[in-house]
Amino acid sequence: MVHALRSRRVITPHGELDATVVIEDGIITAVHPNAHLESHIANLPTEDLGNLALLPGLVDAHTHINEPGRTEWEGFATATRAAAAGGFTTVVDMPLNCLPETTTVAALELKREAARNQCMVDYALWGGCVDGNQLHLEPLARAGVAGFKAFLIYPGCDGFTSIDRANLEHALPHIAATGLPLLVHAELEPSIAASIAHLNTTGADWFKYSTYLAARPDAAELQAIELLIALCRQYRFRLHIVHLSTMQALPMLAAARADGLPITVETCPHYLHCAAEDIPDRGVLYKCAPPIRSAANRDALWSALKDGLIDLIATDHSPCPPDMKRLTATQPGEEPGRFDEAWGGIASLSVAFSVVWTEAHTRGFTLSHIAQWLSLAPAKLAGIDTQVGSIEPGKHANLVAFDPDASFTVTPEVLYYRHKLSPYMNETLQGLVRSTWLRGERVFQRTDNSDVFAITPQGREYALPYPLDTH
Ligand SMILES: [Zn+2]
Repeated sequence: MVHALRSRRVITPHGELDATVVIEDGIITAVHPNAHLESHIANLPTEDLGNLALLPGLVDAHTHINEPGRTEWEGFATATRAAAAGGFTTVVDMPLNCLPETTTVAALELKREAARNQCMVDYALWGGCVDGNQLHLEPLARAGVAGFKAFLIYPGCDGFTSIDRANLEHALPHIAATGLPLLVHAELEPSIAASIAHLNTTGADWFKYSTYLAARPDAAELQAIELLIALCRQYRFRLHIVHLSTMQALPMLAAARADGLPITVETCPHYLHCAAEDIPDRGVLYKCAPPIRSAANRDALWSALKDGLIDLIATDHSPCPPDMKRLTATQPGEEPGRFDEAWGGIASLSVAFSVVWTEAHTRGFTLSHIAQWLSLAPAKLAGIDTQVGSIEPGKHANLVAFDPDASFTVTPEVLYYRHKLSPYMNETLQGLVRSTWLRGERVFQRTDNSDVFAITPQGREYALPYPLDTH
C-alpha cells in the first residue's frame, strides 16, 4: 500500500523541509518538497500533519525491560507501549536485571521467546560481557546481539556480575573480533567505597541527596574512564561510555578521540534536565548511578552535546517496583526516603523526548539536534542505521509527529510503563508526542481526549548476524 504523510516541518538529515513523505510497504520511498508536488504524489492517500513536526522514530539505546525473570519490575508489553507513547520506535534492551541475564545464546533465545508478539515497537538486544563468559561473546554476536554491556562495579542486583580489569582483558580480543561496541558502566568501586566509609564514620544523613552525591564522587567515573581509554588504546575495540554524568571526564574523552580511538559517549535526559541543587531531601525518585550532579555540570554536558563530544542521549529507563524505591516504609519502624536503600534507576521512556526538549529548546537547540541525538546516533551505535534513524528514502517509515509548542503536565496516566513512578510527576514539560508510526503503521495516537494504541503489537527484533573476522 502506498500512502503519505505531509508536514510543514519534516526533520531530515538535510534540514527541515515543508514536504510529503511517501511510504510504500512500510518503507520511505520519497521525500518531496510541497512547493512543487507532482500530481501522482499529491493524489496519494495523505494525512496532513500541518504544523506538527515529523521526526524519525526515536531509538533508545539503553532500555532495561527486565523480562524474563523480573517482569514484575517491567516487561516487553508495558515498556514498548511507553516507548510508542514517547515517540520511540526502537528500544535496545539491556542484558541485566532480567533472569537469566543475557550472557549466553541460550539466555538470548529465552529473551526472544519472552518478547515475541508482545512489543508495540521494534527492538534489538544487547548481550552481556561478564566475568568468565568471554567464550560466549562471539556466539552471541553470531546470534544477533547488537553489542555488549559490561559493568566495572556491582550492577545493583544479583544475576549479572561486574568484571575487573584482568577478566575484561580476557574478553576484549573477542569483543574486538566481533566489531561490535562494548558499552560500559564506568564507575570504579574503590573511591565509592572510601567515600561511603568516610560518610558513615562522620554520621552522614542518608535522607539528604548531598550525602548520596558525595558517596558517588566524580573520581569513580574518572578512574573508570581512564582505565577504559587505556584498554581501548591497547585492544582497539569500539568503546561506548553509557550514561556519562561527570563533566570532568570530557577533556580526557576529547583527547582520546583526537587520538583516533573509536569511542562514543551517551548521556541521559535526567542529567540534562535535573540538578543536584534542586533535588529535595528524601527525593529518592532522582536516585540513579552515576548520580545527577550540579547545575554547572549539567551546562557542561549540554556544551559537550553541542560540540559532538557526547554523541547521543539514551533514557537508561530503569524501573523497579515502588517498595524498592523506599517511597513508603517496607517494614514496621522503617523510615522511607533513604538514599542508601532505594533502588537506583529512573524510568522515563514515555516522557524522555519532552524532558530533553524542555531543556533543549530554551538552550537554542533544534529538532534536527533531537533527531541526531535521539535517533540517528543511537541507531549507528546499535548498527541499525541503514534501516532506521532518519527520514530518508530506503529507511523504515518509523516516524513521530511532535508538537514542539504544546506543553503538558506529567500524570500517572501518560506514563504507560508498569510502575507509574517518575521524578517528573506533576512537572509541566514542553513538547508533546502526537502520533507514532512503526514501518508505516500508526501504533500510537494522542488526541485531546484519549490515547490510542494499535490493537495488535507488531514490534519485531533487529537481529544482526555479524560477519566475524576469521582467526
Ligand atoms: Zn542502565
